[in-house]
Order: sequence, then structure tokens, then C-alpha cells
Amino acid sequence: MTTPTVYEKLTARSREIALIGNASALLGWDQETYMPSKAVAYRAEQLSYLAGLSHQLSTSAEFGEWLAVAESEQSSWPADDERRANVREWRRDYDRATRTPADLVTELARVSALSREAWLAARQKSDYSHFQPWLDKIIALNKRQADCWGWTETPYNALLDAYEPGSNAADLTALFADLRQTLVNLLPAAMKRTGSVDPAKLRGDYPVEAQQKFNRAVAEAMGFDFEAGRIDPTTHPFCSGMGFGDCRLTTRYDEHDFTSSLFSIMHEAGHGLYEQGLRAEVYGTPLGGSVSLGIHESQSRLWENQIGRSRVFWEYWYPRACEFFPGLKERVSLDEFWTIINHVEPSYIRTESDEVTYNLHIILRFELEKALVEGTLAAADVPAAWNSRFKELFGIEVKTPNEGCLQDIHWSLGGLGYFPTYTLGNLNAAQLFRTALRQNAGLEQEIAQGRYTRLLAWLRQNIHQHGRRYLPDNLMKLATGEPTRAQYFGDYLRAKFS
Ligand code: ZN
Repeated sequence: MTTPTVYEKLTARSREIALIGNASALLGWDQETYMPSKAVAYRAEQLSYLAGLSHQLSTSAEFGEWLAVAESEQSSWPADDERRANVREWRRDYDRATRTPADLVTELARVSALSREAWLAARQKSDYSHFQPWLDKIIALNKRQADCWGWTETPYNALLDAYEPGSNAADLTALFADLRQTLVNLLPAAMKRTGSVDPAKLRGDYPVEAQQKFNRAVAEAMGFDFEAGRIDPTTHPFCSGMGFGDCRLTTRYDEHDFTSSLFSIMHEAGHGLYEQGLRAEVYGTPLGGSVSLGIHESQSRLWENQIGRSRVFWEYWYPRACEFFPGLKERVSLDEFWTIINHVEPSYIRTESDEVTYNLHIILRFELEKALVEGTLAAADVPAAWNSRFKELFGIEVKTPNEGCLQDIHWSLGGLGYFPTYTLGNLNAAQLFRTALRQNAGLEQEIAQGRYTRLLAWLRQNIHQHGRRYLPDNLMKLATGEPTRAQYFGDYLRAKFS
């Protein structure tokens, strides 16, 4: 018997931590889908126990000792040895975990749970004052967390880096300023281009069972492996990878509009394809994990919008949708259908917004949460700041907190620094798809025939298989020749809407 090397020890420990994380993900999925209501308290105990166990393993002194040895040994490894990426990422995770004191971890979990309740209550009354004291606590805890992790320029950078490694507020500010100008300039033309058909024309009877069959047919065509995944109903759609060979998508159904569940399934299946494309032999180590939320979201947005809201996609699927949903053909033509699913109009709710205005919603949230963390905006002033900035960006007046600053769950769950990754996902999606089209002659014709094998292979090759080997910006450079830029998303929208 040979003694394992430190690298092997680190790998084994990393897989152990992943086993716990995956078990927690399965319990979390169950909680959102089939768990009986009386199980809430015990489930919380199970999840909290596993979180504690995982934290203990992730911060153990021996892990730190093995890591230090591996770092000194790697000088003898070849420069392109992919194990170097695992060591780098283990160091990143270990430092972040050990710099967070245990009392801060528990306090964040406790306050988030209570603040979610307060947020729900505030929404029920459409009264921000119920939530404000909790947002105060969450801001304070996030500031403390940022100080523990360490930061330069702004504490917001430390929080952002948790979701999007290597990114920073200054770069985002420049990127978003560029983008905002494009969006504002394009908005009138996009409204005109898509305003000719009343979206209500699409409304009709779409039985849930038919929607389920249609969604499954589309997800299968995309390449989602149903022997390694499934779809279940829930209140808020999500995708959860819970170990190799098990990736679950969820959606909700509107019996009067089949596109609501379809686009959420295309979105979540885009996330799912990324999870299913991670490499089996390194699963449970950073090389076998997803790199960032901005890259994850690029996969979902690419399938949902670049593909799913394109004209060529529906050349193939519209006639099929008419078979699944009798009456659709009489309601709308292919042209009208395309116009409706791309309808552009300023509106209050981010999750229901179109491709043009969506990112204005994110820019607003980015500006506010950064100011909250930096202390230039107080929680008490959020509604006023939200409403006035909203008026500037969208030209419409917010009338109730529910259609304004109380609409999203993210802050109540303790997460600040998350929102920008949605826009990064949109920008990355456009940039990646443009490159895929350039490198694969005839790809668009294949999409018009309902074939996506070559597109998926390109994404596997350029994104999925790399796991966390490269930081997001480097991954984008390798895949497209450039870091994330706003230009390609702007080009895409201009080509589509003007
Ligand atoms: Zn997503």
C-alpha cells in the first residue's frame, strides 16, 4: 500500500465536502418540491447540521497543512498541469472559509432565515418598514463579511468576488455605463418594432400535461439528458445539480400561456447542460465545478434568449407547438408569435421584463446595493432612491413597494453582490453565441432544423469541460478572444430590434 500524496488527500477531502454539498442540495430540492409542510423544522436542522459539517471539513487545520505542502510541491509540476488550478481554487475557498468566524456564519444564517420571513410579511402588506430593520442587519453583516475576506477600493468588491471571481465594481461600472447608453438608445425602436401585436392574443387554454410534453421535447432536443436529470413543478423555477448524474430542473405552469414554463425550462436546462457537461473524473474538485454565476447564467441565457427567442428556432418549433396546443395556429401566426415573445416595454418587475429593459433593472440594483455596502445610502432611504432612479431609467413612476424595492428575494436572503451576475450572463451569452456562429459555418441552418448537437459540443469544449480551471474573464478570453464586453449584446439587440 502506498501512502497518498497530499494532492490525493486534498482531492479526497474535496470530494467529501462535495458529497455533503450534494446531499444538502437534494434536501433543498425536496423542500421546494415535495416535502410535507410539517417537515420544515426538522429539514432546517438537517441542512444546518450538514452546513456545519461541511464548514468544519473546509476549514480544518490539516486541510490548510496539506494545501501548504501542495503549494510548495507544485514548483516541480509542469506549467500547464491542471492540478495547479485545483490548488489555486482550494486556496481561494480555504482562505475565504477560514477568514469567516463561526459566529458570523451562524448569525448570517439566522438573520437570513428571519429576514426572509420579514420580507414575506412586508410584501403581504406592501409595507417596506417591516423589512427595513432586517435589511439594516443584513448590510451590517455583509460589511463585516467583506472586512473578514479583505478588499481593495470598496467592500462591495469582496462580496461580488464571492459570486464572480476576479471581477470588481470599477470594471462593472464602466461596462454597465456603456450598456445603459445602448439600451436607452434602442428602447424606442424596440418598442415600436414589437408593439404592433397585442401579447394577449397568445392567451388561451394550454393544459399542463401538454406543456410538460412540449417542454420535455424541447429540453431533449437541446441535449438535456433525462437519464441524468428530471423536471418537477415548483413555485420559483430553478436548476440544482446534486451530484454527478443528477441534475434537476423545476418550473411552474400558467394554463393560459405555455411560453412561461417553456422559457423557464429552456433557461434552467441551459444551466443543467452546464452541470451535465462537467467532467466526471474530476467531479467534486474545483476542476469539476462551475466557475461563476456570470458564466452559469450565460449558459441559461444563451438557450433561453439567443436560441429560444430567435426566429430560426421557431421556424422549427412553431409548427410542432401547434400540434401540441390545438388552437394556437388560429390565435397567432409565426410572425405574430415571434413578436409577442419578444415584446419590449418598460415594466416594474424584473423577472417579467424583456431582453432590452431587463439589464436596466440590474443596473439599478447594482448601484443601490453598492451604495448600501459603502454606506452612502441608508436602508431607510432605499424606497426613495429606488423610485427616483427607476423614473430616470424607465420613465415610469413606481407606485407600491411590491412593484419596487420589495420585489426581489435576494437581499432578504443575505446576498448582496449577486445581481450584476445576471447582466454578465446576458453579455457573455451574446458574446459566446456570436463566436460559436463564426466558428461553425452552417450552425444557424442547423438551429432552423431543430438540431443543436454542434452548438452543445462547442459549449462543452469551450466552457463546460474547463470547470474552474480559468477565472471567468480568462475563460471568456479563451472562448471568444476577449474578456466580457457590452458591445456584442448591443449588436445582437440592434440586429433584432431596429
Ligand atoms: Zn439562471
